[in-house]
Amino acid sequence: MIRTRVRRPDRNSLADAAAILRAGGLVAFPTETVYGLGARAFDAAAARRVYAAKGRPSDNPLIVHVDGPEMLDRVSRRVTPLARRLMDAFWPGPLTLVLEKSAAVPAAVVAGGRTVAVRCPSHPAARALLRVLGEPVAAPSANRSGRPSPTTAAHVLRDLKGRVPLILDGGPCAGGLESTIVDARGRRPVVLRRGTLTDEAIARAAGVPVAEPGRRAPAAPGTRHRHYAPSCRVILTPAALVRRGGLAGLAAPGTGLVHRSPRAGAKPRWSLRVPGGAAAYARGLFAALRAAEAAGVETLYVETVPDRGVGRAVMDRLRRAASR
Ligand code: AMP
Ligand code: MG
Repeated sequence: MIRTRVRRPDRNSLADAAAILRAGGLVAFPTETVYGLGARAFDAAAARRVYAAKGRPSDNPLIVHVDGPEMLDRVSRRVTPLARRLMDAFWPGPLTLVLEKSAAVPAAVVAGGRTVAVRCPSHPAARALLRVLGEPVAAPSANRSGRPSPTTAAHVLRDLKGRVPLILDGGPCAGGLESTIVDARGRRPVVLRRGTLTDEAIARAAGVPVAEPGRRAPAAPGTRHRHYAPSCRVILTPAALVRRGGLAGLAAPGTGLVHRSPRAGAKPRWSLRVPGGAAAYARGLFAALRAAEAAGVETLYVETVPDRGVGRAVMDRLRRAASR
């Protein structure tokens, strides 16, 4: 077991973080989506340490983080006009582009594939880390494999204490859901994983409609695995049932409710309200799942949202959290 330190990002902690990465070690850091578990992207052994720390299946590639289009040219051998348009519109920000990888990116980072997923985060601490290191950083979400993605440093500590030497604590993440992943190798964007950027926004920036994933497009491999699941059983619950108080089982021991609509009827033993629109729900969702788990909830009713806009990404995560 190694000692895990949690530090605010400042000149000293960022210099230490860069030194750890240069030596092949791991650093957890905040982004505007969720916390990432980073390693030098050009270091195969460091990438394998990411898989080991997370308990991540080796067929699930990492996302490479860059500080802008110049660094992108070091990890992709062919940046398409479509990718340039999407980068202009959304970088830095929660958009990951799938492109042909360069020879410099080791197989361990991309799980043996020919493509690489790249994004340029907007969080100041993530950008500062990339700038100080001067190299791309491969980083999946900083949770143990299968668990809800971490949106605070405390979540990272809960999952990775003793497995990572340094967690940079930049406070709660503004987005709360993982990045939108788009295959940008062709003429039309193919959305492989939904996030806070909607299909409509991507089509508008691309100037062409979003294409459905064909047989040639690589599915985002992570979407095949069990994911986002807290230790409690998750039951998807329509808003109407929350409002009408139609959930008879709610008062039973070990039962909890995550909701955004006002609740009627039997009072649950444990509940957490995340009020506001779908974006607010997205921001608070993973933290709510983890809070329920920490409270010892065994059966968790979670209110659903309409399946459109950001709500599509929220429902994607919720369906996965509920399936086992
Ligand atoms: P995470 O940051 O934990 O959400 O993990 C990164 C996710 O990005 C993986 O689960 C994959 O689904 C996706 N991904 C990474 N590289 C690729 C790639 N080359 N092609 C398609 N999807 C990818
Ligand atoms: Mg993940």
